[in-house]
Amino acid sequence: MKHPFHDAEFLTTAADWRQLPSGGAPEVAFAGRSNAGKSSVINALAQRSRLAYISRTPGRTQHINFFRATSGALLADLPGYGYAKVPAAVQRRWQVFLARYLAERKALVGLVLVMDARHPLTDLDRQMLDWFLPTGRPVHVLLTKADKLSPSERRRALQDACRTIARDYGAATVDAQLFSATRRLGVTDAELAINAWLAPRESAASAEKERPRHQGE
Ligand code: GDP
Repeated sequence: MKHPFHDAEFLTTAADWRQLPSGGAPEVAFAGRSNAGKSSVINALAQRSRLAYISRTPGRTQHINFFRATSGALLADLPGYGYAKVPAAVQRRWQVFLARYLAERKALVGLVLVMDARHPLTDLDRQMLDWFLPTGRPVHVLLTKADKLSPSERRRALQDACRTIARDYGAATVDAQLFSATRRLGVTDAELAINAWLAPRESAASAEKERPRHQGE
């Protein structure tokens, strides 16, 4: 199976529309409120221990940080939502950019939304869904830190999140799975979802063959 973001490398950073990479390579965006575990997810998918922490360095928290996979696909790390430490005007400018990026960026093929499995669907997560879902493009929710839950709590967390998403957004373009960066739970499922976005026809056949029987486990 292909690992879409193994060995991805830092490409560039964008604070406004004109700084976004040109070239049209497909992009997968990763979002999540601070401390949800997004950097750990990105590092787990890239198999690099410090990659996503670039997005934390001063001056880059209100930027979209791009990483390039060996296939040419781009990973767009959307940091900073949930950070209260910046002036209101900066925060507003960032939100306007983020909203436009999610709604209008042509190269964007899907959004991975990282949530702490114990505190899913915060107001900020819902804001991201509200901006992105009107595009009709898919969202894959990772309920991370699943290792902190017992097996029955995990099942319930996944069930509850799926039910809430179906109720509030309609299930069509959003799916969800359990994940743990520390235990590497759900990495294959996440990669299969991303592969399907990057090469829809090619991966439909291989997903059939390779999909594990227990989602997210
Ligand atoms: P970010 O702010 O969303 O990028 O979050 P980080 O990836 O930096 O993670 C925030 C905290 O949660 C850190 O202390 C991580 O070590 C911890 N963390 C992240 N993922 C996991 C996980 O899967 N399991 C556990 N137990 N802790 C995690």
